[in-house]
Amino acid sequence: MAIKVLCIVERAGSALDDTAWELLGAARALAGDGGSVGAALLGDGVGDLAADLARGYDDVWVFDDARLAAWDGEANARAVAPLVAREKPALILSAHTNLGIDFAPGLSVRVGVPLLPDCLALEHADGGYVAVRAIYGGKVHARFACAPSEHGAMATLRAGAFAAAEPGADASGEIHAETLAADVGQGRRPVRTVEPDAGEVDITQASILVGVGRGIEDEENLEVVQSLAEALGAEVACSRPVVDKGWLPKSRQVGTSGLTVKPKVYIAVGISGSFQHMGGIKGSPFLVAINKDARAPIFGVADVGVVDDLFDVVPALEEKIREAKG
Ligand SMILES: Cc1cc2nc3c(=O)[nH]c(=O)nc-3n(C[C@H](O)[C@H](O)[C@H](O)COP(=O)(O)OP(=O)(O)OC[C@H]3O[C@@H](n4cnc5c(N)ncnc54)[C@H](O)[C@@H]3O)c2cc1C
Repeated sequence: MAIKVLCIVERAGSALDDTAWELLGAARALAGDGGSVGAALLGDGVGDLAADLARGYDDVWVFDDARLAAWDGEANARAVAPLVAREKPALILSAHTNLGIDFAPGLSVRVGVPLLPDCLALEHADGGYVAVRAIYGGKVHARFACAPSEHGAMATLRAGAFAAAEPGADASGEIHAETLAADVGQGRRPVRTVEPDAGEVDITQASILVGVGRGIEDEENLEVVQSLAEALGAEVACSRPVVDKGWLPKSRQVGTSGLTVKPKVYIAVGISGSFQHMGGIKGSPFLVAINKDARAPIFGVADVGVVDDLFDVVPALEEKIREAKG
């Protein structure tokens, strides 16, 4: 089957977000031989990124406009809807990021297509699509069937769940400059942008991280993981509940509402593995999970899993590391 796929890609600061290439990988597989894959790129001053996208996408539609400077899902949905009506893709893909979560439902309603959110896998089946999605906090992976409307279908893909496509050397895709409709960008007005505190440690630069979660039970017990981190020459990171309880500062939080980290090794201690937490871990580190619940979702992605009480395992691990280091 050959179909036309439109990916709505995101930037991260002044560069393309990694998900732009993950969407391309998924879209190429779904478009099939003879199908086409296009990208819609939105923002203020994003024109320079179009050539980069043209190294992988067949068409790149660029909405470069000051009205798209701020993060505004509604504006993005309004901007892209006329492009969808004109190009008629059979499938629209975007990343299941904070921005994707913001604009995808509005866009799907505007263009009259069903939405499959937060897919871990997506394939053609019986003239429609079947998606794998995580339910019950990630403990169960369920298959959902979706019949497209006459206008097609839309899906958001979880960041990191799809293999990224390698862009080519030449920008052989076609770049098209788009103009915004008059009603775009007039709904929301950002009042203030609050950047997270830099903190005394930059966990985004650490090559080994010991991540601690709610399983640590009490602030006083943090010493157990801090001591392991010290033995390893690692930094301590954490899940959101640890920050919410005021045990560690926000600058240590990994996840979709925290920081994105790219360590070589990540040791998750008493962390269940929610998608909001795992969404902040990029670059496929060697993942060690220590959790007393054998059904914790983190074991589905861990390279090494230890099913036991962290208060037994972590001191024993630290002792072995100190012994090995002499
Ligand atoms: C909009 C939004 C944004 C969010 N952003 C983030 C984010 O950026 N980062 C983030 O982390 N979360 C985020 N969350 C929260 C997220 O949904 C989860 O609630 C959170 O990640 C769970 O943290 P946890 O794994 O530490 O706790 P839990 O899910 O409670 O897991 C604790 C784990 O510890 C284990 N455990 C308990 N005691 C022991 C023991 N003695 N030994 C071994 N294991 C033990 C348990 O089996 C359990 O698996 C966000 C949520 C929302 C709605």
